[in-house]
Amino acid sequence: MKIAILGAGAMGSLYGGLLSQKNEVYLIDIWQEHVEQINKNGLVIQTAKEEKTYRPQAVTSAAQAGPADLVIIFVKSVHTDTALAQSRELFAEHTIALTLQNGYGNDEDILPYVQAANLLIGTTASGATVLQAGKVFQAGIGPTNIGTRDNRASENIAKIVRLFNDCGIESYVSDNIMEAVWTKLMVNVGINAVTALLDVRNGFLAESTAAYEVAEALVKEGTAVAKAEGYELNAAEIAEKYYIHGAKVVGQNRSSMLQDVDKKRKTEIEKINGAIVRIGKKHNIATPYNELIVKLINAKEDTYSLQ
Ligand code: NAD
Repeated sequence: MKIAILGAGAMGSLYGGLLSQKNEVYLIDIWQEHVEQINKNGLVIQTAKEEKTYRPQAVTSAAQAGPADLVIIFVKSVHTDTALAQSRELFAEHTIALTLQNGYGNDEDILPYVQAANLLIGTTASGATVLQAGKVFQAGIGPTNIGTRDNRASENIAKIVRLFNDCGIESYVSDNIMEAVWTKLMVNVGINAVTALLDVRNGFLAESTAAYEVAEALVKEGTAVAKAEGYELNAAEIAEKYYIHGAKVVGQNRSSMLQDVDKKRKTEIEKINGAIVRIGKKHNIATPYNELIVKLINAKEDTYSLQ
């Protein structure tokens, strides 16, 4: 299958590298040095155990790749619209688009560029970080779940799940992907902004009662909003499972929002806590904790221009 990965940073490189074992893969990224390095020396994926080199093709523009059978969108959500507007050449009538980005509402950003029936949405429990141009680290490995935004059955899902599993990416067809999206959103709602503002690793939530209570309050508002949308999630369970128990497993992780703030990059706050505020308004549900934390992250982003 011809696969284009739009945004080949940490996650795009990880998926693109693995998929290149059995498919024609194009990594598309505006990061020139990364693209050059991959074409010259291959893409290196490092894990805790080994280092392997893969040979996808890397390009800086969609025009160099042309129409693909599958486009996986892996830019940060703030760049989805710009990246897609620059990449119309990837889409033919039959092209399937898949987003595995974090946050809520990525599918709406993609919809103008693809046939609605060909849009798939998913979650991934894997994690990665960029080490240097041409080299990424697979930080965690976990399942990928794929479905459609209205939980409609589609032949495309099974096809992509098979293709992923064939390349060692453990994947499942989900008949309720939106519930998985909401659950993952809740994890990010509690962890990302708090760790980014406090400049701490995820495990800190299990060490500080005050930080934990802020995360839990954010998630409680989130679950109230999720309920209004038809998804019954338990805030206390999520906080306990991911912030206390999870801290033992991935406590050393630095959240992606903390990494963005460190590098003075625009964060995905609008698709995470911002989504809770937006959807809360639609249902007349007050979300003061989430409103405040969105503003604090926005203010943090404003500090980037200070010397
Ligand atoms: P990243 O910043 O490492 O990679 C994004 C890439 O997109 C960068 O290399 C950037 O140069 C590229 N890009 C930006 N604008 C572009 C454009 N116009 N055209 C082409 N490329 C462009 O980000 P990431 O950590 O790989 O995250 C990608 C998505 O996956 C995010 O939504 C994130 O929340 C989600 N996610 C990340 C992880 C993780 O562990 N890193 C885990 C799960 C989900």
